Amino acid sequence: MSVSDYIPVIGLEIHSELLTNSKVFCTCSAEFGGEKNTRCCPVCSGMPGTLPIINQRAVEYAIKAGYALGCEINKFSVWDRKNYFYPDLPKAYQISELNLPICLAGAVPIEYEENGEKKSKTIRINHIHLEEDAGKLIHDDLNGVSLCDYNRCGVPLVEIVTEPDMRSPEEARTLVETIALLLQYAGVSDCKMEEGSIRADVNVSLMRKDATEFGTRAEIKNVNSLKSIYRTIEYEIKRQAQILDRGGEVIQETRRFDANKGETKAMRSKEDAHDYKYFPDPDIKQVNLRDEDLERIKASLPEMPKQRLAKYMGFGIPEKEAKVIVNTKKISDLFEECLTHYNNPKSLVNFINGEIMRRINLGEIDIDKPSFTAADVAKLVEMSDTDKVTKNDAKEIFREMAEKGGDPEAIAKANGMLIVSDTGRVLEVIEQVIANNEKAVNQYKSGDVKVFGFLMGQCSKELRGAATPKVIKEELEKKLRSL
Ligand code: ADP
Ligand code: MG
Ligand code: ZN
Repeated sequence: MSVSDYIPVIGLEIHSELLTNSKVFCTCSAEFGGEKNTRCCPVCSGMPGTLPIINQRAVEYAIKAGYALGCEINKFSVWDRKNYFYPDLPKAYQISELNLPICLAGAVPIEYEENGEKKSKTIRINHIHLEEDAGKLIHDDLNGVSLCDYNRCGVPLVEIVTEPDMRSPEEARTLVETIALLLQYAGVSDCKMEEGSIRADVNVSLMRKDATEFGTRAEIKNVNSLKSIYRTIEYEIKRQAQILDRGGEVIQETRRFDANKGETKAMRSKEDAHDYKYFPDPDIKQVNLRDEDLERIKASLPEMPKQRLAKYMGFGIPEKEAKVIVNTKKISDLFEECLTHYNNPKSLVNFINGEIMRRINLGEIDIDKPSFTAADVAKLVEMSDTDKVTKNDAKEIFREMAEKGGDPEAIAKANGMLIVSDTGRVLEVIEQVIANNEKAVNQYKSGDVKVFGFLMGQCSKELRGAATPKVIKEELEKKLRSL
């Protein structure tokens, strides 16, 4: 047997930090970073006798996440204590939701390409629950110690649990990417993988093609990049296929992914819910939502990718190009803002998808902190459309804007790129060039059109900044024909 004799079955538990200002049960800052252990208080560091108070905004954000992923919202949800002893969790329990989570039964459509073929599918979401994040352990192997940073303790987190609906690494990777985009649009998470604000537990099992039941799964904890998610699944499929081929059995266990080696390793046998001795937290009020709360929250959801895509296609932008814009929230926001300054969607899309995306891909622009403004981009594109600068010069001007910002008109002026469209001057120069190049002109008139380029070059040299190549060409042709 080989890998192709099995069907992979994949389910994900995606953890995403919510973008609230403060933590979920205290007023400490929830922002990423900060000097170690400076964003903690008696509540989030679990001192006896302290009482947690729910951050309403965290609940609202979890509900928005639910709506973004097509879930039903539970009007009544209950906080539970998930008990475990580990130094990243000073209380020795995590406040979470087990039986009555905040969102249920969602669905996320995904689209991807596999072997050059376009595919689409809907992945079901089992539920989303709200919980607090744990702290971070820093392992200092040199000195043989582990240090604790509790700044992350109590940062609100949603855990999005999918049904085991995915059948390939590509589907899983696409789902995480799609969910990250939806949460970004909903404005509830920035989903920055490198800051750990979105990570996934990856569940993988294999079943034989003729099997009617799922096989035993392994759960790989805390995988923190799209690439690692893909590689984890690829590796697990191979590992489990080898075991099954030998007639062995996959053990239900928790594993971790070693990105350096590209392998997963056993950590511990899989724990069950009862191992955590969950019980309802007696210190926190249950969440009771009214219909009007839900309606208000739903109405406050901003424009989502699907709506923006439809809008852009309505502008006459081809689907493929519109998707490039929509698939990066910051780019779509940039485009939206540009439109308020210069209402020419097609031109803006051409420039953004061409020049701006190219420089982002080259790593020359950090789209989270661009040095240019949308207003300046819009102005540059308009200048290029109205022949105030040539298309090529527009790219040059943008190179400077991408590096250090600045007004495109000022940059154009400073570099002699601003075209003033002085037709009088154009005609004057053409006269001159014709007078000075009698031989070439005669050649042209006798049918040798190749010399046109030479004459054009003579004019352009003199006319830099006075007219576009198009105007010069038209005027020169007109003049030559009239001779
Ligand atoms: P637990 O909370 O113990 O991890 P759940 O039943 O809640 O278990 O499932 C967790 C995740 O594992 C879900 O995303 C689910 O889709 C996935 N899953 C469940 N069974 C399988 C299986 N046989 N193969 C792959 N994934 C699975
Ligand atoms: Mg799990
Ligand atoms: Zn605190």
